[in-house]
Amino acid sequence: MSALSISPTEAARLVADCYGLQAEAHPLPGEHDANFRLTAADGRAWVLKIAPPDADRARLEAQMAALAHLEGRVEGLPRPVPTRSGDLLAKVSFQGQRRLARLLTFVPGEPLAHARPATPWLLRHIGAFLARLDAALADFDAPALRHTHLWDLARAHEVIRPRLEFLPPDLRDIAASVMEDFAQRVVPLLPHLPAQVIHQDANDYNLLLHEGNLAGLVDFGDMLHGPRVAEVAIAAAYALLDEDDPLAAAAEVAAGYHVWQPLTPAEQTVLPTLVLARLAVSAAIAAERARTAPDNPYLQISTAPVVRALRALHTLPREAIHARLTAFCTATAPLPPPPPAAALLARRRRLLGPSLSLHYRRPLHIVRGFGQYLYDAQGRPYLDCVNNVCHVGHSHPRVVAALAQQAATLNTNTRYLHENILRLAERLSATLPEPLRVWFFVNSGSEANDLALRLAWAYTGQRDVLVLEGAYHGNLSSLIAISPYKFDGPGGQGAPEWVHKLPMPCAYRGTYRHEPDPARAYGEHARRVIAAVQAQGHGIAAFIAEALMGTGGQVVFPPETLREIYQAVHEAGGVCIADEVQIGFGRVGEAFWGFQTQGVVPEIVTFGKPMGNGHPLAAVVTTPEIAQAFATGMEYFNTFGGNPVSCAVGLAVLDVLEAEGLQEHVREVGAALKGWLREIADRYPLIGDVRGLGLFLGVELVRDRETLEPAAEEAAALVEYAKDRGVLLGVDGPLHNVLKIKPPLPFTHADAERLVEVMEEGLRHLRKTSLKA
Ligand code: PMP
Repeated sequence: MSALSISPTEAARLVADCYGLQAEAHPLPGEHDANFRLTAADGRAWVLKIAPPDADRARLEAQMAALAHLEGRVEGLPRPVPTRSGDLLAKVSFQGQRRLARLLTFVPGEPLAHARPATPWLLRHIGAFLARLDAALADFDAPALRHTHLWDLARAHEVIRPRLEFLPPDLRDIAASVMEDFAQRVVPLLPHLPAQVIHQDANDYNLLLHEGNLAGLVDFGDMLHGPRVAEVAIAAAYALLDEDDPLAAAAEVAAGYHVWQPLTPAEQTVLPTLVLARLAVSAAIAAERARTAPDNPYLQISTAPVVRALRALHTLPREAIHARLTAFCTATAPLPPPPPAAALLARRRRLLGPSLSLHYRRPLHIVRGFGQYLYDAQGRPYLDCVNNVCHVGHSHPRVVAALAQQAATLNTNTRYLHENILRLAERLSATLPEPLRVWFFVNSGSEANDLALRLAWAYTGQRDVLVLEGAYHGNLSSLIAISPYKFDGPGGQGAPEWVHKLPMPCAYRGTYRHEPDPARAYGEHARRVIAAVQAQGHGIAAFIAEALMGTGGQVVFPPETLREIYQAVHEAGGVCIADEVQIGFGRVGEAFWGFQTQGVVPEIVTFGKPMGNGHPLAAVVTTPEIAQAFATGMEYFNTFGGNPVSCAVGLAVLDVLEAEGLQEHVREVGAALKGWLREIADRYPLIGDVRGLGLFLGVELVRDRETLEPAAEEAAALVEYAKDRGVLLGVDGPLHNVLKIKPPLPFTHADAERLVEVMEEGLRHLRKTSLKA
C-alpha cells in the first residue's frame, strides 16, 4: 500500500478515535511513513506517523521509548503522545490492512536547508546539541536498535557498491574511491569506535531553526546502535552543503560536538571519510531511486547540493580535509569530568577571600562558552545577556587563533620593538577624533583609569576630581576614592576631600529631570560645585564619567548634558576623562564610542573589558600635550601592558568587529529589543523605564510609577527566574532595581525574542506570587 493512500480525513479520524484529540490533518512528506501534521483549534500541533504494513514493530517501539527517555533531558525534540489507553503505538486498520501509528508533538521551525549560509555559532550549536543528545542517549539501549538499515553509515561501502551502476560516470568514480577509502580507513577501526544509540540523521531538513537559532531535531526513524562519530559526520555532511567554505562549516559542527563529547583519536581519523561516505551514500541512493521511484520528489530533496559537494570535496587531498575538520579537536583539551558544584563551593569558601561574590542563589558552574552562549557542567546552554567582556562572542575562533599563534611565537614587553602594539595603536587611533593620538596599554580598566588620573594630575597640576553619583571606575585605591558606587555603598567611607559628586543626570530619576533644559541645569550644578571647590583654594584636575552609566543602572543622559558639564570643567582648567571601559567598541550601536553620542571630545579616554574579548587588555589614549606633561623623567613601565600577545588579541577583536559588521548588527538588534521591551512595559506597571542604546539596555523596576519606589526584590526574583529558564541577566544601579542587558554582540533578533519572552513569563510569574508586577 502506498504511503499516500491514507486521506487527511482518515488521519484526523484516527487521532480523534485513538488519542481523543480534535484536530485538522495535513499531509507531510516522508520516506516510509505516511505523515500528517495535526492542528487543534487552540493552536497545539502534532505529527501523526503511520508506518507501512511491513514495519518492524519492535523498532518503532524502541524509537518511541528513546523519545520518552529523552523527554525533559534535551529540549527541541518531539515528545511521544500516548493513546487513550496509554500505549505509545496505536494499532489501526486501513482498507483491511493493519498498521501501526504514533503521535508526536510537533516541533515548529524552519529547516536548516532554508537558512543558508549558517553562521559559525549556529553550526557549533548544532554540534553541541548533538553531543548533548548523544550524552542523553548514552544510557539508553534497545535490542531492536541493534540492527542495520540502508542509511547505516557503518556499512556505507556495502550500500554504495551495488548502486554504483546508477551513477553517472564521473560520480561513479568518486563514489567508488570513497567506498575504497571507507573499506581501508574506516572498516578496520569500526570495532574501536565508541558506539551507542544515535539519531543518525541530523540532516539539514531534520534540524529546525527558529529565527536563525537552533530550535530542535526531528525524525528519529533512522536511529540505531552505531558508532557515535557517525552522528557528527552526518550532521557535518549536510551542514556543509552549499556553503562557501564547506570544510569550515563541517569543522564548526565537529568542534561544537567535541567540546561536549571529545572525539577520540580513532573517531577523528575516520571523520573525514565518514563525511564523504554519507554524501556518496546519499548520491547513490538518490540515483537508484531516480530510476525506481521517480515520482517521489522527497527522495531527491538534497541530491543536487550533495552531488556538488561531493565533486568539490573529492578534488581535495584527504589529508587536507582531515586537517581542516579536526583542527579544533587537536587545539582543544577535552574537559575532565567536573567535580560536583557543592565541592567547588566549599573549596572556594576555604581558598578565596569572602569579599568575592557569586551570581545566583544556586551558583552556576560554567565550563564552556561560545558566541552568546554559556554551558554549564551538565551541558545546559544559557543565553548570556550580560557579559560585555566577551564582546565579539565567547571563545571567538579568530580571537583564540590570534592569541594562540602569537603566544606560540613570542611574548615580551614594550622595551623591545614590536609591530603589534603599533598596529593596534594605529587601528584604534583611526576610530577616534584628533587630537587623541597617544597611547598607553595596560591590563585592566582600573589600571587605565588610575593612569588617566595621573595624566590629569600631571597636566593640570591640580588634585580635585569631579565624579557622577552612582559611578564606578575601578578597584584600585585611587578609584574606590572616585567611585560613589563603592564609597557610598556597603563598607564605603564616603568621598575623600578631593572628590566631589555631581548629580547623576538620569532622564528618569535625576534631580533636574523636570527642568525645561536639564542639560543646562546639570552644567550649572557643575559650575556651582566647581566654584565651591575653588573657594576653598583647590583646583579641578579632572571630571571622569561614562557617557552612559553602567553601574549607575544603564543611565542615559539628557542630550548635550556632557557637553554642558565638559564646558564647565574646561572653563575651570580641568580635563575630561571618558570611561569607555563598558560602553566602547560599538556596543552603543549608533557610534563606535559612547562619548560620541553626547557630542563631546574628551582629553583622555580609557578602554578595557571588550578590548581583549576576555583577555586582560586595556588602554588609555590622550593628547600629545598631556602625554608630554606626564613625561617628567619617571619611566612608565607596565610589565604586561601592550605585550605582543595582548595586542594580537586586540587586533583580532577589531578584525572581527569589522568582518562581522557587528556595530550595525547591534544597532538593529538593540533597537528591536528596546521596542519589544517597551511593549511589555505597557502591560506591566512594574517596569518603570526601558532605556539605553544599542546592546547596552536597562529595565528599571518600580513598585509605583509616581513615587518611583524601587522594586529591588522583584528585580532579583526576575533574574533568578530567567536563569532557571536558561537566560542570564543581572541587576545594577544604586537601588539594585535595574535589569541590565549587555550581551556579547553576536546576540541575534531570535535571542532578543527569547529574552523578551522569558522576561514576560517572569513578570507573569511574579504576578502570581506575593510580589506584584
Ligand atoms: N570603569 C568602568 C565603567 C567599569 O565598569 C569597570 C569594571 N566594571 C572598570 C572601570 C574597572 O575595570 P576592571 O575591572 O577591568 O579593572
